Amino acid sequence: MKIAEIRTGEVRGHGWTCFVRITTDTGVTGTGECIHGGAGIQQIIGALGSLIIGEDPMNVDRLYEKMRRARVFDGALAGNFVTALTGIEIALWDLAGRATGLPVYALLGGKFRDSVRLYADCHAGGDDSPAANAAKAREVADMGFDALKFDLDDLQSPAKKDAFNHTVSRRELDAMVEKVAAVREALGPQIDLAMDLHGRYDASSGARIAQSLEPYDLMWLEEPVPPENVDAMREVKNATRTPICAGENLFLRWGFRDLLEKQAVDIIMPDLPKCCGLSEGKKIAAMAEVYYIPMAPHNVCGPLGTVASAHCCAAVPNFLVLEWHWLERPHWHDLVLADPPLIQNGAITLTDRPGLGVELNMEAAERYLKPGTRLFA
Ligand code: MG
Repeated sequence: MKIAEIRTGEVRGHGWTCFVRITTDTGVTGTGECIHGGAGIQQIIGALGSLIIGEDPMNVDRLYEKMRRARVFDGALAGNFVTALTGIEIALWDLAGRATGLPVYALLGGKFRDSVRLYADCHAGGDDSPAANAAKAREVADMGFDALKFDLDDLQSPAKKDAFNHTVSRRELDAMVEKVAAVREALGPQIDLAMDLHGRYDASSGARIAQSLEPYDLMWLEEPVPPENVDAMREVKNATRTPICAGENLFLRWGFRDLLEKQAVDIIMPDLPKCCGLSEGKKIAAMAEVYYIPMAPHNVCGPLGTVASAHCCAAVPNFLVLEWHWLERPHWHDLVLADPPLIQNGAITLTDRPGLGVELNMEAAERYLKPGTRLFA
């Protein structure tokens, strides 16, 4: 079996999400997804994919490393090169599963769990008041999710006087505490709750925020400081009882090396269809396991990227919870042919169907296609 073609299509989602389809000379195909690859993602996937035409698709790790090393001088250490690689890699895993009749988790070494727990990323909408966020939290918990995340930073807030300055103001801090208090009160003590700061604060501000939120027993506070400075992240982590989580803007094993060696976080959150892919994600999880650090992957993908992430989450011991970010985008469910629905009671239960175990709904993908582009053409 040899790789014959690699084609792409971008569909509306969290921004634009990119589907990748690989076909072989035997007719077996595999479909993957990646996200946050930027405007040129289809061109990069096309260029990387041309390096593996004619290759045996079963050598997934070798093909990934062949493409990566071929483009290191172009910047394939991080960013959209790696994101493009993940889309191809996930399509290769789907293809390998379909060719062998095995689910992807089995090819990754087997599963530790049948059900992959999700947390829902929540937004109250236009009204960002504590009461509106509390109502949203209750609504989402009633849908069956027992873990939720809200955004805590707000560049539009009148309390935020300067969008570029990294220091939290007194008024801003008070607004954050009010929001978290309202959401925690609405949820009660049994629901896990995370808050995201999107890397917008300096270390002392991050520590103040984390300390102020200690009474609300967060599952984690996410990216209190920007991702580049691991020592600043470690300062925040060591200053608070609130668990600190980071990693959605780090790439490959090497991106996580300092973060883990310095034990600068309590939890890592690689975005598998953006930062690494499934095989590399498993290796990052293994590095984290050395420090007893759990993995809670970031995920803003459509259904294929989410299910692909779930296969990796099933195959590592130190999985905590996986993000689901399309609460306000109901067409997530339309993009895949799945019966029963993929998400039930706040979790994805993996089946023993081959590959990722789900089929892209081509008709729905066409409906949400990026204007002026074609799907797998
Ligand atoms: Mg985040």
